[in-house]
Amino acid sequence: MSRDPVMTSDAAAALIMARCDELAGISAMPEGILRAYLTEEHRRHNALAARWMVEAGLEVWQDAAGNQCGRLEGTRPGLPTLVIASHLDTVPDAGRYDGILGVLLGIETARRLAPHASELPFAVEIVAFADEEGTRFGATLLGSRAMAGTWDAGWWEATDAAGISMAQAFWDFGLDPEKIHDAARAPEDLVGYLEAHIEQGPYLEAAGRPLGLVSSIAGARRFKLTILGEARHAGGTPYERRRDALIGAAQAVLDVERIGRDRGVIATVGQLDTRPGAVNVVPGEVEFSLDLRAESDTLRDSAWDEIHAALSGFCTQRCLELVIEEIHSAPTVSCSPRLRQALAAGVAETGDHDPITLYSRAGHDAMAMAAVTEIGMLFTRCEDGISHHPEENVLETDVALALQALERAVWAVAAEHRE
Ligand SMILES: [Zn+2]
Repeated sequence: MSRDPVMTSDAAAALIMARCDELAGISAMPEGILRAYLTEEHRRHNALAARWMVEAGLEVWQDAAGNQCGRLEGTRPGLPTLVIASHLDTVPDAGRYDGILGVLLGIETARRLAPHASELPFAVEIVAFADEEGTRFGATLLGSRAMAGTWDAGWWEATDAAGISMAQAFWDFGLDPEKIHDAARAPEDLVGYLEAHIEQGPYLEAAGRPLGLVSSIAGARRFKLTILGEARHAGGTPYERRRDALIGAAQAVLDVERIGRDRGVIATVGQLDTRPGAVNVVPGEVEFSLDLRAESDTLRDSAWDEIHAALSGFCTQRCLELVIEEIHSAPTVSCSPRLRQALAAGVAETGDHDPITLYSRAGHDAMAMAAVTEIGMLFTRCEDGISHHPEENVLETDVALALQALERAVWAVAAEHRE
């Protein structure tokens, strides 16, 4: 057991990088990385994380949702908890840092805090969430939703690709679905929630900054849009008689990008299905997706209003019908000023006194935890903004800085903490 309080942040960063590689070796894919919820890989990554947590001086357990937890008591046992967490599950053919880096930074932060834990006015818990990506059952943030007490009973019926239900998968893993509420934390038992995560975007790298503060996590609105025209013989139908649904959809895709750019909103059409989809038939119906996200809900919603108006206007002109179905809507979640300040103090410790603040375009466990406590997020630079891909990469020197920042941030939270 190497419980060495004098390990430098450089040495700790090297250890974290080596452990990211070790975790990458736990995979359901022969080539590439895949770790999904309630699988053998989940069991193995929990066992490793538990071992590392114990080595860092934490008391460990697996909660009722399969999340791996480790606790460091403060001045006295049983105090409310500052949670530092991220996830160990992955998308198929994943990189080795998304989520993982946040968990390992948490464990090393705890190791550095451990010798001084008697000075902490709260407990610190490191949590490795078991499902954030939703790879196996479709629904995302399962681990953190269980901890936030917002588990959806409808999920028990959800099935994986092999037809196994969530409830069955719980039993098979050795968990009892009836006990899921034991994983939930009460707001009064929490001091706050911190998460370090790779940026998954190119902004920090472009700015030449290793670390960034997160202002908010964008909540997406998603739509299924259908444009109805009339399917007719391509040869026999002159232009003036056509009601071509694909022309409408093509214009819509261009409008979505233009309005998104103008308003600083991320607007994406990722799916498009043309019917009947024959080479010699004027398209009669096109269904396409729209994903909208922004720093604030107001910004996102006003962009939707403009997109809606543009599409409606064009469809009317072309004698097309527009059918709108909103299939998902999540509110944007803000990081609390208190925890942002603490993280800013942490980043200042690394020599950056005027840190970049950016909002997260991707979802994170912190979104779920915001239902029960204040959240704060720290982004670390990643190479070329690549994520959810085997080429995901981070610099070891950035990892060392992130560790310094997190440790300092915990003490900043402690300095402001009132029991
Ligand atoms: Zn992630």
